[in-house]
Amino acid sequence: MQVLVVGAGVIGLAIARAAALAGHDVTVAEMTGGIANGVSSRNSEVIHGGLYYPTNSLRARHCVRGRRMLYEFCTSHGVAHRKCGKLVVATNDAELAKVETILAQANANGVEGMEMIGGNAARAMEAALSCIGALWSPETGIIDSHDYMRALWGELEDRGGMIAFQTPVERISYQAPHWHVRFGGSDPGVIEFDAVVNSAGLGAQALARRIEGYPADKVPRLVLGKGNYFGFAGRPAFSRLIYPTPTDGGLGVHVTLDLAGRIRFGPDVEWISAENYAVDPRRAESFYARIRSYWPDLPDGSLVPDYAGIRPKLTGPGEPAADFMIAGPSDHGLPRLVNLFGIESPGLTSSLSIAEDVVNYLT
Ligand SMILES: Cc1cc2nc3c(=O)[nH]c(=O)nc-3n(C[C@H](O)[C@H](O)[C@H](O)COP(=O)(O)OP(=O)(O)OC[C@H]3O[C@@H](n4cnc5c(N)ncnc54)[C@H](O)[C@@H]3O)c2cc1C
Repeated sequence: MQVLVVGAGVIGLAIARAAALAGHDVTVAEMTGGIANGVSSRNSEVIHGGLYYPTNSLRARHCVRGRRMLYEFCTSHGVAHRKCGKLVVATNDAELAKVETILAQANANGVEGMEMIGGNAARAMEAALSCIGALWSPETGIIDSHDYMRALWGELEDRGGMIAFQTPVERISYQAPHWHVRFGGSDPGVIEFDAVVNSAGLGAQALARRIEGYPADKVPRLVLGKGNYFGFAGRPAFSRLIYPTPTDGGLGVHVTLDLAGRIRFGPDVEWISAENYAVDPRRAESFYARIRSYWPDLPDGSLVPDYAGIRPKLTGPGEPAADFMIAGPSDHGLPRLVNLFGIESPGLTSSLSIAEDVVNYLT
């Protein structure tokens, strides 16, 4: 089949590669000038274990399966990564009870090696920590996500696929037996495809509304959950990922590591109505308070505004977190079309697993 994948983020690239490996003729249309210019370049680069998500949700299934696939991919393709593990820390009894429910959920999700440890054992691993207990997740890790996305792109091209940059998809209509896709950009025109995948990230809803005949009530609302990060101007105090007990909308202001061992803090959750990526330095105040609950020695003046990412959420403040929405022909009634909505965290970890399912929906 001639397959069009819209969006060259980690999800589109993983799907395009999987479709090319399955023998399809694949084109990726990306409206910007390069890969990973959207959500995929502004995240924590954590390979998640799959602890938190409700049993049988798509997030649980794709995160756990995708994580195993991703470690294998990194090893076989030489992608830089480190299985450093993570501690979810509890600083009081209420948090300890919550962390224990996360352990039960992680076990239900089939996450390997999970273990509750006491405060002393946690401090033996990370001396700077203050906590009364912690959940240890040895399978969690970090990845150079750009290295990973370049490897996906390379394999796509090895299989004859290509990416058209500066190529926004403007309109899509089905005229049996083909999808007619109108492109904008400097070389506009209409091209026919057998199958279309909408993995446009923050643009997925807008694009779905421009698919003729796509049921309007099947396009979910888009809620923007901005996540701000602060860098740390000091000697790294941790060598593992440190997460507090989760908060509404996110996993709490956590310690993230990069492969060079530097640490940064974030992301928080800021509900916004229009895309913007500026980090307000005043947000540092709340970061100090939250980080010092588990790292009391965080020095004054050590946090510097770094970057922000935006989660393409389907639900807003106070509402239960939504699952990924992967809408195939049986959901919307149109042939060989898949729309992906709400692919926020753990989308990077889940990418190879999601890709395998999407390619199966197309046939
Ligand atoms: C703050 C934050 C932290 C996160 N941390 C993690 C983490 O640690 N681990 C993890 O597993 N996941 C994490 N995630 C989730 C992960 O980053 C996302 O799930 C993933 O990057 C989504 O990728 P995507 O390809 O769907 O979207 P994108 O990367 O945004 O790609 C979509 C692409 O589509 C293009 N596009 C849009 N409309 C059109 C159009 N009409 N025509 C052509 N092109 C178009 C855009 O330019 C863009 O390049 C995090 C997310 C955020 C926001």
